[in-house]
Amino acid sequence: MTASTPPAPVLVLFRDDFRLSDNPALHAACASGQPVLCAFVQDDACMPQGVIGWWLGQAAAALADALSQQGGVLLTPHGETLPVVLDLAKAAGVSDVFWNRRYDPVGKERDTALKAALTERGVTVHSLSARLLHEPWTVRTGAGQPYRIFTAWWRAARELGEPGRPLPAPQEIRFAPVPRGFKKDLAPGALLTPALPDDATQAAQYWPCSEEQARTILEDFLDDTLAHYDTDRDRPDREGTSGLSPYLRAGLISARQIWQAARQAEARSGDHLNTEKFLSELGWRDFGWMQLFYEPDIPTRNLRSEFDQMPWENDAEAFTAWTEGRTGYPLVDAGMRELRATGTMHNRVRMVVASFLTKHLLTDWRKGERWFYERLVDADPALNAMNWQWCAGTGIDASPWFRIFNPVGQSEKFDPSGAYIRTWVPELAGLPDKLIHTPWKVDAALSRSLRFVPGKTYPHPIVDLKQARAIALERYRTLKKDDQTQN
Ligand SMILES: Cc1cc2nc3c(=O)[nH]c(=O)nc-3n(C[C@H](O)[C@H](O)[C@H](O)COP(=O)(O)OP(=O)(O)OC[C@H]3O[C@@H](n4cnc5c(N)ncnc54)[C@H](O)[C@@H]3O)c2cc1C
Repeated sequence: MTASTPPAPVLVLFRDDFRLSDNPALHAACASGQPVLCAFVQDDACMPQGVIGWWLGQAAAALADALSQQGGVLLTPHGETLPVVLDLAKAAGVSDVFWNRRYDPVGKERDTALKAALTERGVTVHSLSARLLHEPWTVRTGAGQPYRIFTAWWRAARELGEPGRPLPAPQEIRFAPVPRGFKKDLAPGALLTPALPDDATQAAQYWPCSEEQARTILEDFLDDTLAHYDTDRDRPDREGTSGLSPYLRAGLISARQIWQAARQAEARSGDHLNTEKFLSELGWRDFGWMQLFYEPDIPTRNLRSEFDQMPWENDAEAFTAWTEGRTGYPLVDAGMRELRATGTMHNRVRMVVASFLTKHLLTDWRKGERWFYERLVDADPALNAMNWQWCAGTGIDASPWFRIFNPVGQSEKFDPSGAYIRTWVPELAGLPDKLIHTPWKVDAALSRSLRFVPGKTYPHPIVDLKQARAIALERYRTLKKDDQTQN
C-alpha cells in the first residue's frame, strides 16, 4: 500500500447478533482502522420461518436503522452465504472479514466452508466469541468429555471465573462505500421481513424491537423484578421474569451484558440469592448450546435411545386441540392461547403444556417442539430442543418420565386466583377462583347464573388425567422392560 492508496475495506457479517454494543466482530473491524462494510446475508438455509422469522427480520431492520443513524448502511444481499460473500468481498476489495461464531450445525458448516474459501483467496477471517458466556467446548469434565449434568457443568463453568466484560459500541464507524452491483442490496428495500401469522394478534405490540429496547427491559427488570425472582419466576400471574429471551435470541443484547448489569445491581442491593438464581438461568442457556454443539441432531433424536421404541399415540385431533387451546384444562389452554397470540408463554406453563402433550396425550415431543418453533418469538434451536427433551424425559439431565405434571395441581399452585387463566381464556373469566382450575365441576345452579355451560361454553377435558397417567406409566414400564431384555 502506498501513501496515496486508500486502505482496503473490511467486512462485518451480522447473523444473529443484531447489535452495535458488545459486538466483538464489529468492534474488531472498527479497531482495524480500515473502512467498514456491514452485511446481513439473507440465506434461506439459515432463515427460519414462522414468528421467529418475523422477529429476526425486525431485528435486522432495527440494526439497519441503528447503522443509518451512524451515517452508514446495512447491506442485505439474498442468496447462499458462500457465493454472496465471495462476490461482495471481491467487488469491494475486502482484506478481512469479521463475524461472531455460530454453533448450530448449518451455521457451523456454512462458516467453515466460507472461511476456507476466503482464506484461499487471500482474505483474512476473524471469527469471534459473542453469543454465550463461555465457548461450548471450554467447559469439560476432567476426562475431557462434555458434561451431562447441569449442576456439575455449572460448577465447572463458574470455576472458569466471571465471563468476559462486554465491549462498548464503537464510538464511530468509518463506513466503506458500497460497491457497484450491491446498491440494490441496501436495507430496508432489500430486507425481507416475513409477516406474522394472522392469529399472532398481539405479538407486534408485545415485542418492540431494538437494541435500546432490550437495554430498557433489562434495566426495568433489575430495578423492579430481580428482588423477587426466586419466588416469582414460577408465577405466570405475576411479572416475575426478565422477558429478555427474544432479545437474546436475536442478539439485540448479549448474555455478557446481562451478566455484568446483574452483577452491578447485586453490588448495589447485596441481593446474592436472586442474582445467582437469575444468572444460573443464563447458565442453562449456555448448557443448551453446549448440547447442540455436541449433539447437532438434538432437535430430532431422543438422547435416551430407549425412547426410540416408545409407542406414541400421536392422535391428530388431540394435537389440534392442544395447539388451539381447547383441551379443557384451563392452564394448558391459557398457555397455548398466549403462545398463539403473543409468540411467548411463561416458562412454568411451557413445562406444563409439554408434559401434558407428551405424557397425558402420548404425543411425540418432536411434534410439540416443531409447533413451538413455529410460534415462539424466542424460538431457539438449542433451548427449545433441550427443554422439550427435558420435559419428555428423553434428554440428558431431564425430568424423568414418571414425573408427570398434573395441570390442575400446577394451576392451583402457580396461578391460585386464576388471574393468568382469566387473561387468556375469557370464557372462564367469571368463574370463582376455586372453580377456575376445574370448570367441569360447576354445578347446575352456578352454571345458570353464570351462563357458563361446561362442554359448551368451554370444552370438557379431552382426557381423564388419572387414566392417562396410568397409561403413560404403563407404556414406560413396558419400554424399560423391553430395553432391558434387548440388552
Ligand atoms: C418446552 C420448553 C420450550 C422452550 N423453548 C425455548 C426457546 O425456544 N427459546 C428460549 O429462549 N427458551 C425456551 N425455553 C426456556 C424458557 O421457557 C424461556 O427461556 C423463558 O421462558 C424466557 O423468559 P425470560 O426471558 O423472562 O426468562 P428469565 O427467567 O428472565 O431467564 C433469563 C434468561 O435465561 C435463559 N433461560 C431461562 N430459562 C431457561 C431454560 N429453561 N432453558 C434455557 N435457558 C433458559 C433465557 O435465555 C432467558 O431469557 C423453553 C422452555 C420449555 C419448558
